[in-house]
Amino acid sequence: MTTQVEAALRGPEAFNLARNALAEMESAGVWPTPLNFELWIHYLGDPEGPLGREMTRLLGAADSFTEGTAEMLAAEYLPRGRLSEEIRDAGAVLNRELSSVSAALAKARQSQADYGETLTEASASIEAAGDPADLKRLVTGLTDATTRVQRENRTLETRLETSTKEVARLREHLEQVRRDAMTDALTNLGNRKSFDEALLAACVESDKTKKPFTLAVLDIDHFKRFNDTWGHQTGDQVLRYVASVIGRVSKAPRIAARYGGEEFAVICPGESAATVETALNAIREEIGSRALRRRSTNDELGAVTISAGLATRHPGESGSSLLDRADEALYASKRSGRNQVTNAERLEKAA
Ligand code: GH3
Ligand code: MG
Ligand code: MG
Repeated sequence: MTTQVEAALRGPEAFNLARNALAEMESAGVWPTPLNFELWIHYLGDPEGPLGREMTRLLGAADSFTEGTAEMLAAEYLPRGRLSEEIRDAGAVLNRELSSVSAALAKARQSQADYGETLTEASASIEAAGDPADLKRLVTGLTDATTRVQRENRTLETRLETSTKEVARLREHLEQVRRDAMTDALTNLGNRKSFDEALLAACVESDKTKKPFTLAVLDIDHFKRFNDTWGHQTGDQVLRYVASVIGRVSKAPRIAARYGGEEFAVICPGESAATVETALNAIREEIGSRALRRRSTNDELGAVTISAGLATRHPGESGSSLLDRADEALYASKRSGRNQVTNAERLEKAA
């Protein structure tokens, strides 16, 4: 999903966008299937984007908009379609490389076998050879056969070298695709999917190492109001700014992710609450003390604040229970006035 549409679906115009999509589908005479809905959301959310322009063209043409049309558009323009296409392409390249390598191997095996036969025949002929001319013919024949085999081997080597390079290129490309699928395009932090995976992995790791593990969640305060006042584009810039501060403080082994619209999470393996609480307060103070300006107009926007919650994992605790406790702590920060950090443990002791 383009970030623009992604943001619009969580912004003040989200429900209008959804209602418009339904109305437009009805007037275009298509069924409100999930796929059509997704297409129309993109079309209306970003009419000047590649999908938007293609839809304008198709809907202007006399042809009817069929399910086939929808499938075709989805494969071409929706990100998940592109992703599976990239993976399909990679599979095709790999198949091509594998079959050409196995053809080259088969050919080399055949010429080795032929060579072996030539040698056996030669040794029989040497015994029978009467005069020097016979011997000379024999040696010439052997030299030719050897040259042929060497040529085959060189071809095979070149072929393998090309394939190795091609497969390495492919691996790099797939690695990039995988990274893209795990990255939030707006902020460049990990996305929800990467967070879910990292949380699971961190739980397994902390069971194995018996080291502590703390999870932090952060949420921008009154961000809806900020968007309503300054507009979504400016809101997006603020999201990027907040993400950059969180990212800077979350160097490995910490893992930062944007796990919802204006919500972030930081996985802190090997850390107990104290260091994480200090880091969260540093983030909170830095963000809250920065007077923001709109880049395009230099308008003063004031500062945004963030609230945070953190929870240290109990031995054997599941990721989702840990996340629930961190969320509880976050909401306690919200309830008691925002712009603060709450440790779940303190909350639980007080209860
Ligand atoms: P609270 O202090 O309780 O967290 O209030 P809030 O307004 O921040 O929280 P609420 O959950 O009511 O609203 C979240 C807002 O975040 C709604 C939406 O306008 C904004 N938002 C979510 N995702 C994006 C995005 O990608 N871009 C922009 N610009 N705004 C977003
Ligand atoms: Mg918020
Ligand atoms: Mg929120």
